[in-house]
Amino acid sequence: MAATILVVEDEPAIQELISYNLELAGHRVLRAASAEQALEMVRSELPDLVVLDWMLPGMNGIEFARRLRADKRTQAVPVIMLTARAEEQDKLAGLETGADDYLTKPFSPRELNARIKAVLRRRAPQATDDAVEIAGLRLDPGSHRVLGNQTPLTLGPTEFRLLHFLMTHAERVYSRAQLLDHVWGDHVFVEERTVDVHIRRLRKALEPTRHDHLIQTVRSAGYRFSAGD
Ligand code: CA
Repeated sequence: MAATILVVEDEPAIQELISYNLELAGHRVLRAASAEQALEMVRSELPDLVVLDWMLPGMNGIEFARRLRADKRTQAVPVIMLTARAEEQDKLAGLETGADDYLTKPFSPRELNARIKAVLRRRAPQATDDAVEIAGLRLDPGSHRVLGNQTPLTLGPTEFRLLHFLMTHAERVYSRAQLLDHVWGDHVFVEERTVDVHIRRLRKALEPTRHDHLIQTVRSAGYRFSAGD
């Protein structure tokens, strides 16, 4: 499953190189040449991850990361910071601001891809291509298949994304509003009962192999994927 990655970099050649490689790796790329422009973009769409240059004209990368962390809506977005300076002090400052990782220029595209993968795995597993398997139910984002005890199950695209999110966040309860934010995207305006409709369809799709009970309703809280009771 492709992640949406916002690249904030003012040097056109580097922005192009990074974006090209991320697209090659299957991601969807949003580009900004300044922190101000990036803030504007984040207001309309929340990316799965931000690749952020430290030295930017106007607001610098540190300040931009600080702003992301200060806002409830954006505080969980993972950030990988890029810098031309290798000083240990800078690295500490970057990580203190809440960057999840830190890369010193020049770096290879392969190195950046590896770091992105590691950060997504840790912070946004639903945006990776890793297969998930719980209690005999297997979801493979790469081949876009769901197997219940090895039997292929048919899911619509929304049910697939919903199941992917729930399985990568198993045992945690999510409200309808949170599921809308994570699965539909927080820039999409749909009613909360839409979630109920798709949960119903999802359970129906999992019925043939009796995996529907893994999708649990938590009264007055929301839904949870659980292999327990
Ligand atoms: Ca720069």
